[in-house]
Amino acid sequence: MEIESMVANSALIKAREGKRNKGRSLKWKEMLRFPHISRCMDLATNIERDYHSLCVKQPIGKKLFQLFCRSRPDLQNYISLQDALSNQCVSIVLRHEQSCVQRLQFVPCGDVFHACREDLHQYLSGKPFVEYQESMFFDRFLQWKMLERQPINKHAFRQYRLLGKGGFGEVWACQVRATGMMYACKKLEKTHIKKRRGETMALNEKQILGELDSRFVVNLAYAYETKHALCLVLTMMSGGDLRFHIYNIGPPGLDRDRVCFYAAEVCCGLIHLHQKSILYRDLKPENILLDDSGHIRISDLGLAIQLPDRGLVRGRVGTHGYMAPEVISHEFYGMSADWWGLGCLIYEMTAGRPPFKARGEHPSPSEMERRIHKQQEEYGDRFDVDVKDICSTLLNKDPNLRLGCLDRKGREVQSHPYFRKINFRMLEAGLVEPPFKPDPRQVYCSDVQDIDEFSTVKGVILDNIDTNFYSKFNTGSVPTSWQNEMIETGCFSELNVFGPFGSRPPDLDW
Ligand code: ADP
Ligand code: MG
Ligand code: MG
Repeated sequence: MEIESMVANSALIKAREGKRNKGRSLKWKEMLRFPHISRCMDLATNIERDYHSLCVKQPIGKKLFQLFCRSRPDLQNYISLQDALSNQCVSIVLRHEQSCVQRLQFVPCGDVFHACREDLHQYLSGKPFVEYQESMFFDRFLQWKMLERQPINKHAFRQYRLLGKGGFGEVWACQVRATGMMYACKKLEKTHIKKRRGETMALNEKQILGELDSRFVVNLAYAYETKHALCLVLTMMSGGDLRFHIYNIGPPGLDRDRVCFYAAEVCCGLIHLHQKSILYRDLKPENILLDDSGHIRISDLGLAIQLPDRGLVRGRVGTHGYMAPEVISHEFYGMSADWWGLGCLIYEMTAGRPPFKARGEHPSPSEMERRIHKQQEEYGDRFDVDVKDICSTLLNKDPNLRLGCLDRKGREVQSHPYFRKINFRMLEAGLVEPPFKPDPRQVYCSDVQDIDEFSTVKGVILDNIDTNFYSKFNTGSVPTSWQNEMIETGCFSELNVFGPFGSRPPDLDW
């Protein structure tokens, strides 16, 4: 490894460890200084007074509402009950679910405490919610909201090494100066976007990411612009992409347990997207990333599309060699394209090569298409009965007969015998230990100098129409992600102090 790469890697590893001041800037408290409450009045009049959004969905809102309830003797018990319902009980129920099912021979209802929790919210959204909005806890919420809405530019971040390269630009590791949180910044070069008419695509990727909230899809934390680029700040995935794991560590391919675990998590991610009528269309190892604990997330939603109700689309969209037969041949298609993609992925992780291409071979696009339409993929001895069966049913050339496209959609994929050892309910709750944990002292991507430099485009002039499009993109922090960042990094608890006996402390800018 060259010295340049070693230096870049060790700087990144140090930042991830966050030893000095947890990675925060020395001026972090100034950066996160609450505005005076008199400056929050516009927000107070305009913010939508919706109980679910303010007290359940938004992480800081939920915390402050809980603090309010705890400060009130008549409401304390409600909050204790809510805590119990959301944490311990659910994980206990999930852990015993399998044995319960066997004993009782019936499937327990989806969420055992659903009705109870609904009643609780029903009560809290009445008088308690009204009183909360008149309390100092809600004032504090407004102050946090003002911080959240500060405009974002590149100075909010420290930049570390290059992680990867894509169609419109580069992906860099970065860290928020105020909180020490690590993220990956995907930079889309303005000139490249314009030259290749990628405006809708960029906006599309940003919009879809901003609406999603799944542990199996990368989260968007910020969207901002610089002079030359549009930037998407995403969940940092320190474990690298699956392509790197399949090909760059040991002999190509992954062992059975890992393949099955990643396939199961991707399957959950696809189901989540499909439930929101989003078709992903770009399933391949490079786009599936590992986090530091070894869980995967689907990333790169540049080609994803929101389908109209029960609608279909047409368009040869995807990556060569991974597109489904119906996509290649200009037919209308729906979610079937993604289930084909899952078949390709399981095949490639198992065999150490994609289904229609030998190792080191580079067939022409037309030859690739011919094979996808006509050729029966081969299964070597790395494939046992179950993995062969799930691959061949997902790679059915007829979308109407393909696994995942029959009556029960994604659920029929989950109940395939290949996944018999996976408890999907536990998996969806994040309670399954991954079979492989990335080494925190290693950087799972190619050396900096081996990632091709991004070429510059000449002769593209940016004008007013472009500026208009950039402002649609440049929306700053995504509320849920920003609030989670404050909580996870400890900034919330360190800053959210109230004076003695609940009074407002004089030294904080109230
Ligand atoms: P493109 O849309 O141009 O294909 P991607 O979003 O797939 O760009 O990013 C390109 C590469 O950058 C990925 O294959 C991966 O190696 C790396 N990368 C992307 N997002 C992240 C992330 N959140 N964390 C770590 N690495 C990432
Ligand atoms: Mg990609
Ligand atoms: Mg893309």
